[in-house]
Amino acid sequence: MHIKLKTICILFLGLLFLSCHSQRDIWNTYEQGGYHVSYTLLDQHNIKEYETYFTKGKRRVEAFFQSPFKDHFYINIHPSRVSLDSTWQQDWGMPDFKSQCWMVASGTAAKLDIISPKQWDSLACEHSYSNPIHTQRLITHELVHVFHGQRNVSPDFSDLTGMDWFVEGLATYASGQCDATRVSEVKNALLRNEIPDTLSTFWSGKLRYGLSGTVVMYLDARFGREKLSSLLRYNNLKDLLHALEVTESELLRDWRDYINAL
Ligand SMILES: [Zn+2]
Repeated sequence: MHIKLKTICILFLGLLFLSCHSQRDIWNTYEQGGYHVSYTLLDQHNIKEYETYFTKGKRRVEAFFQSPFKDHFYINIHPSRVSLDSTWQQDWGMPDFKSQCWMVASGTAAKLDIISPKQWDSLACEHSYSNPIHTQRLITHELVHVFHGQRNVSPDFSDLTGMDWFVEGLATYASGQCDATRVSEVKNALLRNEIPDTLSTFWSGKLRYGLSGTVVMYLDARFGREKLSSLLRYNNLKDLLHALEVTESELLRDWRDYINAL
């Protein structure tokens, strides 16, 4: 009798676990002007709140480029890091890929994948949902990637040469992440002469957002928004520099002068 009761309890708990687990994995989808959002039951009470971030982000991106998104896209809100990793493993053909703790989202022409923002405090480092300005900027950053991918010859950014600084710098700058703190960090690094020699190394190290973002900020100030927008199609540094009619060393020299004068 005692053993039977134990078995029934274990069975019951097992079924309960399975039902909770499978409920978490049931995806719902809704359409919102220009994009579909998919989320699991875990987020059914958060989705309205998240939607305000998506709507504001999309509006900001379109205002920045003074142009609408070209194509429809998907936003997938993952309930866990395992769920996001399995998507990235599939998308990137890397079955053993495990994301680092600061990675919470990605964006390409067709879709934006993101860990449910309310899970960031427990599942990620460097990001906290409790800071609405940072949350908005991060979501906008990913939407800039979507917008950029829809205009790039490599829509999923898999075929880029020397362009990481531009892809990430554009998303950092256009989303508002290149704020006064980041600019002053770059100014200080410049004073200490701690700036990488080539653009290809700007998207590396602790200052990667500030370094890459301020180069795009400089391009915007020097060449204007229309010219900056025209660069979205290029997937290699040579073509981008050719379009600007500058060499890499001229661009870096002028960027330094621009930052020093800020
Ligand atoms: Zn990015």
